[in-house]
Amino acid sequence: MAAVRKVLIQGAGIGGLTLAAALGQRGVQVDVAEAVGSDAVLGVGLNQPANVLAALDEIGVREACLNIGFPFEELVLWNPLGEQVAAIPPPDGVYAKPSNNAIGRPAYNQILREAADKAGARIRTGVTIWEMHEDADGVEVELATWTGKRTPPIRDAGAGSNRYDLVVGFDGVRSKIREHLFGDKYAPAFTGSANWRVTLPRPDYLEHIVVAFAAGVKVVLTPTSRDDMYFGLVTPEPGKPRHAPEDFLDLFRERTRPFSGRLGELRDSITPDHTIVYTPLEYLTVREPWFRDRIAIAGDAAHTSPPHLSQGAAMAVEDAVTLAAALDQHDGLPDALDAWYRRRRDRALFVADASLALLKQENGDELTAADHELLRQVVPNAQVRLFTEAY
Ligand SMILES: Cc1cc2nc3c(=O)[nH]c(=O)nc-3n(C[C@H](O)[C@H](O)[C@H](O)COP(=O)(O)OP(=O)(O)OC[C@H]3O[C@@H](n4cnc5c(N)ncnc54)[C@H](O)[C@@H]3O)c2cc1C
Repeated sequence: MAAVRKVLIQGAGIGGLTLAAALGQRGVQVDVAEAVGSDAVLGVGLNQPANVLAALDEIGVREACLNIGFPFEELVLWNPLGEQVAAIPPPDGVYAKPSNNAIGRPAYNQILREAADKAGARIRTGVTIWEMHEDADGVEVELATWTGKRTPPIRDAGAGSNRYDLVVGFDGVRSKIREHLFGDKYAPAFTGSANWRVTLPRPDYLEHIVVAFAAGVKVVLTPTSRDDMYFGLVTPEPGKPRHAPEDFLDLFRERTRPFSGRLGELRDSITPDHTIVYTPLEYLTVREPWFRDRIAIAGDAAHTSPPHLSQGAAMAVEDAVTLAAALDQHDGLPDALDAWYRRRRDRALFVADASLALLKQENGDELTAADHELLRQVVPNAQVRLFTEAY
């Protein structure tokens, strides 16, 4: 590949591992620096819509995801009594069926990790970038030991440095690479809502994603394998309260009190032995080129949105496979990065903005004219756009 021979990726999340696999498969030497150790809790599950299944096919892992996950077609609406009121079929688009495949996050990460390993990427965990020095021909990078989100990394004076043609920050919403490029210009904004998720055994009747609303709370039931599902909630949490983990179960029960029938039965099956994951929902969009010279950001580092279209990780994967393709297709790095950013910008920002507009509508927040315009395009019309336009 003429544009790059050696690349460093910061972050071995969904986007970083996809890029590592895509570049490694093209013969690029790839190092990945991941802060968190390999025993990290990876969260619950997520949905892979048809567009990301197509992108994952490019690195050869689509079938593995379908084998482990739970493919489905419809979005099913229930009333608060747990009774079906509607089923929304997916639009026909440019991508192959299934329209969706939900999967556990640890399984998804494992599949991507194996693909990256097989492609020859060298993945180091427990490390982060300490220092970067850029010149016309490359970036000199020194790594350090990661000690936690609130404590500084520890420099290993004897570790030395490595030189790269390109450094890519796939390091999530609190990206240090974004900070390196833009200082404090961009910071994630709290949306006013949070997400609660807990993994439960999948009941036989749950064969599609199910959504129900009551008293400002949205319930989402997602089958993630033949055996498992997750029970998710989106709740307004004004002021971004810091709930204590020991209170999660009581708060979960309180927030789902308006739901009964099958929804009540599922709620009542949650015990103190279950792990409830609580995530305040954030929004961030970088509205200028996601790169400068030899350093770029992608995925949540460049555009983070609430999960209302199930497309955040899908955008990270699309960013990764299109970046690898652009680096392959262009001889010069500036041309490759510019072409990649232009290809990605509108689609990724549409997902972020439409997801936020949907959250505001569900919360009963005041909507702008731009929000109304976006809402005309959201579910299922957002799927029409995302499925019928190639990434
Ligand atoms: C509640 C919820 C539900 C969601 N559901 C869906 C869904 O159904 N479908 C979907 O497509 N998306 C979904 N998303 C969005 C999805 O999780 C993200 O968009 C996706 O994980 C972004 O991938 P990424 O690789 O860009 O970043 P991340 O997954 O955040 O990965 C970043 C990686 O970088 C590492 N890192 C961070 N800082 C450093 C550092 N300084 N040094 C080294 N490493 C570092 C982190 O440890 C992490 O491994 C959901 C999000 C939430 C919050």
